[in-house]
Amino acid sequence: MKCYAINKPTDFMHRGDLLDWLRTTDPERLAELWRLADQTRRRTVGDQVHLRGLIEVSNYCRRQCGYCGLRADHRSLARYRMSDDEVMGCVRQAVEFGYGTVVLQSGEDLGLSAEWVAGLVRRIKAETPLAVTLSLGEREPDELALWRDAGADRYLLRFETSNRALYERIHPSRPGQQFDRFELLGRLLQLGYEVGSGVMIGIPGQTYDDLADDLEWFARLKLDMIGVGPYLRHPETPLAAWPEASVDEQAPATERMTYKVVALARLMCPWANIPATTALATLNIHEGRELGLLRGANVVMPNLTPTEYRTLYEIYPGKACMAESGRTCHRCLAQRIAAIGRTPGQGRGDAVRGEVFEGQSNIF
Ligand code: SAH
Ligand code: SF4
Repeated sequence: MKCYAINKPTDFMHRGDLLDWLRTTDPERLAELWRLADQTRRRTVGDQVHLRGLIEVSNYCRRQCGYCGLRADHRSLARYRMSDDEVMGCVRQAVEFGYGTVVLQSGEDLGLSAEWVAGLVRRIKAETPLAVTLSLGEREPDELALWRDAGADRYLLRFETSNRALYERIHPSRPGQQFDRFELLGRLLQLGYEVGSGVMIGIPGQTYDDLADDLEWFARLKLDMIGVGPYLRHPETPLAAWPEASVDEQAPATERMTYKVVALARLMCPWANIPATTALATLNIHEGRELGLLRGANVVMPNLTPTEYRTLYEIYPGKACMAESGRTCHRCLAQRIAAIGRTPGQGRGDAVRGEVFEGQSNIF
């Protein structure tokens, strides 16, 4: 029987409970889920909200992910790549604002050479106390090793969905390579990175059962960071033409569904760092982030990308805070964190690795 630790080794969640929670619309049961997730978050990772300054260094991408506005075939999108001095300008802002981490994210851009990235990581580590997270797509194992040697601390790569057939439909593979993200996540772990992954919620063709599988994968992979957000339709992508629900039990791409997955991820991986994502804020700009933080999340990722570039980093349309500056994002998030009675994280906000319970075994 599959079971996962919620609060202590004797307090398990079964697959049936997981599915019940994913399916329920009963406000009382949901209130119970939010309460359990919030309690667990407080007990494990505490009241600090870690701030990870996001720098979107390039919107070039060689891949063709069926849902993403940065896909190579989106020819009308103007492309940019930041210089190292531009990136360092954002990094200095992260230090000024008191963040513990910068996240360098981009499309899968071979124009960001392995040596350039390594040099940049070395510079950040030499000039600042920040932790460095990379989220640069599927790169070669020797490149990942080089960046780790240069001092990179963490790597984010979502597996997007554990439904293999669906994954393959929305990710045209590179020649000779198939569904290699789990393997890459294992390699990142072996290289000593803190590893983050996650999924989109409500991809056309994704069922409740698929989401339960995804949650089980989070626990099995023992992820340090779990990022989940709703699938948001981009009209210039192939997935936009797909019917929203072509399967029975289609998981909806809604705010509530996203909170459920955040809360269940917290229960199944009690010590993980879990962000309230920008995609969530895009669905509810007024309180999406706050509700995420009150239902299991403990991280936010304020955007530091210069305004002229962030409008071009259009993974999906209508992205929250597209026209704001780094300084405005910083002030706004600081107020939102204070308003819910939480405190901004001090230090780097490294992974807290709690006890390993029965039912959680590392597959690597
Ligand atoms: N190229 C890197 C990082 C940039 S994309 C990578 O693919 O890992 C970062 C994340 O944006 C992806 O993992 C995906 O989950 C999310 N994303 C892309 N398009 C999206 C969409 N239309 N709706 C919601 N999330 C999307
Ligand atoms: Fe490129 Fe990442 Fe978008 Fe895929 S999800 S098209 S790899 S930026």
